[in-house]
Amino acid sequence: MKKIIRTAGPSISNLEIKYVNDAVKTGWNDKSYDYMRRFEKKFAEYVGVKYARVTSGGTGALWLSLAALGIGKGDEVIIPEITYFACSDVVKLLGATPVFVDVLPDTWCIDPKQIEKAITKKTKAIMPVYIYGNAIEADEIMKIAKKYKLFVVEDACPAVGTLYKKKHAGTFGDFGAFSFQGAKIMVAGFGGMIVTNNKKLFEKALYLNNHGEEPGKKFWQTSIGYSFEMSNISCALALAQLERIESFVAKKRKIFDWYKKRLGKVDGLSMNSERPNTRSTFWMSSIILNKNFGIKRDDICKKLLKEGIDTRPIFYPSSMFPMYKEQNTPISHHIALNGINLPSGLNLKEAEVDFICKKIKKILKVI
Ligand SMILES: *Cc1c(COP(=O)(O)O)cnc(C)c1O
Repeated sequence: MKKIIRTAGPSISNLEIKYVNDAVKTGWNDKSYDYMRRFEKKFAEYVGVKYARVTSGGTGALWLSLAALGIGKGDEVIIPEITYFACSDVVKLLGATPVFVDVLPDTWCIDPKQIEKAITKKTKAIMPVYIYGNAIEADEIMKIAKKYKLFVVEDACPAVGTLYKKKHAGTFGDFGAFSFQGAKIMVAGFGGMIVTNNKKLFEKALYLNNHGEEPGKKFWQTSIGYSFEMSNISCALALAQLERIESFVAKKRKIFDWYKKRLGKVDGLSMNSERPNTRSTFWMSSIILNKNFGIKRDDICKKLLKEGIDTRPIFYPSSMFPMYKEQNTPISHHIALNGINLPSGLNLKEAEVDFICKKIKKILKVI
């Protein structure tokens, strides 16, 4: 079978194997939670929060966050058009309404001006997304949240290691959600983390995630709840990944530089951009086609796949899906319908990037 250069893929070393082996051998009975608690402690220290709890995934962390904030029927949650299904799903599943707004043309993250325009009497929360590891406009968003007394749940799922003014993604609002799904910058197979600095909210989230069991009264339920769990064995893998996270961020940034060097000056193409005072993890190096190259985006992807190069379309604007009413969000529509995620796995080599860029240029007829 022909080798395919994949869009994602982790870096696994002997450290991961060592921790997982240890968890399998020893992580039972009184040691059942050891790697879970070690991983949470280390993660909280790394991102700089007081409280962190592992969850089944980023989706579970987002769901739990909104549930702990009491979001439900009649409430509106403002989210960016360009994001993964998870954001609108959890809002809808709680009976609330997602309100989709446009993104910024450079970072592809939610536009604070559009947030303010979308606020109504029903608005309860803002859910900004660190899309592809790019930083949100955290100061402006928090200012708006304060002014209108709204909750902020940060979808930092693809952004372990992203910084805004030296502070970590996911640590500005009421809750932050992270994902360790297999394509993310650090992986556990599946898994996630919910973080907060608010003790009361943290306890509420833990209570709900324990099926709403009354604290101190075994098997007595006082609320409908959840069980978004992550296993001790997965946490062993994730802990090893976390110990190596800065090297992953450095590698992702290097991959982006390799692309930028080769595609950055092509007329009609733009790439991820990083605003001053932020650090993007460049989880996915991506290109946007800003002019007509005489070939459709999806046909470019098909041609690349024939060359053994796997790509992904940028996430569609959520409001385009049949469950919603399509919004007039021209920037999101342009980026989503003309954007391509390029191979960005952690084991990618410069020679492969060189090969990919040559093929792209050939398909676009720019050489
Ligand atoms: C990956 C991702 C998620 C979902 O995380 P899971 O762990 O797969 O549930 C949510 N939002 C964004 C922006 C993501 O990239």
